[in-house]
Amino acid sequence: MKSLRRLCLILLLPLTLHADDAPKPVFLAGAATGDVTAPLGSSMNGGFQDREATHVHDPQLVRCLALDDGSSRIALVLVDSCVIGRDIFDEAKAMIEKTTGLPASHLLMSATHSHSCGTMQAVGQSDSDPLYQRFVARRIADTVRCATQNLEPAQVAWGVGSVPQHVFNRRYEMKEGGIPQTPLGGTTDRVRTNPGVGNPLVERPAGPTDPEVPFLAVRRADGSPIALYANYALHYVGGNGPGHISADYFGSFARQIADRIGAGGGLPAFVGMISNGASGDINNVDVLGNPERLPPYGQIERVAGDVADEVARIYAGLDWQDFAPLAAAHHEVVLRIRKPTAEEVENARKTMAESATAPRMETLEQVYARETVLLAEFPNEVSAPVQVVKIGAVRLAAMPVEVFVEIGLEFKEKHPGTTVVSLANAYHGYLPTPRHHALGGYETWRARSSYLEVDASTKLVEVLDKMLAQVGIGEN
Ligand SMILES: [Zn+2]
Repeated sequence: MKSLRRLCLILLLPLTLHADDAPKPVFLAGAATGDVTAPLGSSMNGGFQDREATHVHDPQLVRCLALDDGSSRIALVLVDSCVIGRDIFDEAKAMIEKTTGLPASHLLMSATHSHSCGTMQAVGQSDSDPLYQRFVARRIADTVRCATQNLEPAQVAWGVGSVPQHVFNRRYEMKEGGIPQTPLGGTTDRVRTNPGVGNPLVERPAGPTDPEVPFLAVRRADGSPIALYANYALHYVGGNGPGHISADYFGSFARQIADRIGAGGGLPAFVGMISNGASGDINNVDVLGNPERLPPYGQIERVAGDVADEVARIYAGLDWQDFAPLAAAHHEVVLRIRKPTAEEVENARKTMAESATAPRMETLEQVYARETVLLAEFPNEVSAPVQVVKIGAVRLAAMPVEVFVEIGLEFKEKHPGTTVVSLANAYHGYLPTPRHHALGGYETWRARSSYLEVDASTKLVEVLDKMLAQVGIGEN
């Protein structure tokens, strides 16, 4: 009996000791950037017509923040680009897994949605150079590897700012006669996207906006900043010089926030980041107001400066922690594609033949006819990756689409601390809700920029709801 009790003590003792004396896990953070600026002469996407890069105003960068809580390691990656297809992301992830052991599920990669960058994915009439795509994948992988090699003990904090003056819902209900024919034929639209400043037929916006700027910050014990990852539901700003490569306000924010929080010039360099939130229907055009005309980059600097000011204001009062638990989960959701009928494809070919500048399409009708022909070659369904990353009380819900703002607001209400990261891990066009599909408008017009089934948002949200519940809400 006595020996049995002793045995029990021996068995229990190490466990008890372990719980009391176990060293506290050390939270680590590391950041890095890599340059993916396209060569001059390259295609730049983001418009219906292709554009040629003739000048580099500011570089296209890969920005990476790696975090490690002792048992999990994750990396947040942002790439200055309009959109990025799954091939590039998957190629980069495979290289990263090989060199660092980090699994794809723990890598959140997204495009910023700058409309003044080298084409990484074919949209509109822009096509990408496969050699450039391979280079980008490699450079993403190298940047993540460098960020993990820069990991060092860090403190972590998060906050939420608000910048309401720069976000506008760009879809409007219109007065009688205010909605033109769609380029696919017919007048079924009940809203008009980008009706133009001062348009007298504008009635009211067809949806809300989200002014919040949630962010996550990491710093060293001496207070010097390592990186800051923010998020804002704003499509992009624009107003660049002609033919200029530029990271738009995403790049300007990165530079300005470094100044505001005194990041200094030491190495490894501080990395500022701002990802694209649920901004599928949100832009920076004050249609109902009287916006000031600024020189090139004037509006970009203004928006980025205001967002940086607000983040810096909240940053000054952050509650810094020595530790935050990390978790990540990934799922695939199979969605149907809205394919054109054989008759639609035949009519589209006739419309394309009318272009006097073939193979370049001139009119919007011809551009959408070409999209119809290209979509006919798409598969009937696609597997869309969704991902949840947890960092303390922060939840990032990553979606491979341009998410409408109502979807982002719904997540924030149901799962406090949750932020949508759009254009993540793949690219499958716009994600309107079923209500917005019924309203029509540019974002719903069938093209390679909008092809998922009408119920796609319902299906993606349902899966993400479950994933967010699993990682625990409000726990940190
Ligand atoms: Zn867009």
